[in-house]
Amino acid sequence: MMSYAAIREKMNRGHLVVLDGAIGTEILRRNVTWADHQLLSQPALVRSIHTDYIRAGADVISTNSFQLCRRAIESHFRDPAHRHHIGPRDIEERPNRLLAASVELAREARDSVAGKRPVAVAAAVTTLEWCFRPDLAPVAESAAAEYAEILETVQKAGADLVLLETVNSITEARIAAEQARRIGLPIWVAFVCDEQGALFTGETLEEAARTLEPLGVDAILLNCAPPDDIAAGLERLLPHTSLPVGAYPHIGRFDPPEWLFTNEYPPGRYRTVLAKWRERGARILGGCCGTTPDHIAAIASLS
Ligand SMILES: [Zn+2]
Repeated sequence: MMSYAAIREKMNRGHLVVLDGAIGTEILRRNVTWADHQLLSQPALVRSIHTDYIRAGADVISTNSFQLCRRAIESHFRDPAHRHHIGPRDIEERPNRLLAASVELAREARDSVAGKRPVAVAAAVTTLEWCFRPDLAPVAESAAAEYAEILETVQKAGADLVLLETVNSITEARIAAEQARRIGLPIWVAFVCDEQGALFTGETLEEAARTLEPLGVDAILLNCAPPDDIAAGLERLLPHTSLPVGAYPHIGRFDPPEWLFTNEYPPGRYRTVLAKWRERGARILGGCCGTTPDHIAAIASLS
């Protein structure tokens, strides 16, 4: 929390706060599969990505926990009976054990290289269902209970804040923000937007800001879309909020079947684009899918 207080102050003074870059695509780029996030099987690899981002200049590092929650794991099974029949013996504890491990690895990385520099650990949490499909979102009551479990787990594991990312609807952002406020965990909310700068539900970022401001959200960001789309979103968001605004785009096109991206924005070009956003008023800049420690070093040179 001490680290985050320093970062919050920096952000509120209008200084640039550097967020880290991608983890999932970076694990793949280092020729390792991302099947189980590698939290338990290759902790040193995960830690080394965090330390590379800290050395590149990140003020905030985010945990390797994309869509790591009970719902994502349980959705593999037909029903609870099937889950207990073919799942591992620790199936009930596993989601939270992995989530806690993701926070612990980021904290260990921070403690090993940050020295006296304040670096905050943000628990990366995304939508309960697939982040590009708001039509799949669970009903509000289950969503509140599920976010409560996730946020309490990462708080207990020592996260300084939660970075709720790639959010596709105002409702889900509101439910998660209410749960974060209930337990006193600072929260940043990052929305994914389309090429018009609207949410995937068609809702506007102006409405999103109006909903989140009274809920104690510390910053609103845009992420997980190409730079042109994020630029459109920033134009829709910046004039309508007094909260700190941030952005972290992709570096190219999604290149399946693995979650990899084409390299259309190498660090120099990425820096040029994000420098313009900084001039427009963005206070938090980082990297989404495909970005590397070199991209983050390029951004850090803007401050
Ligand atoms: Zn992304």
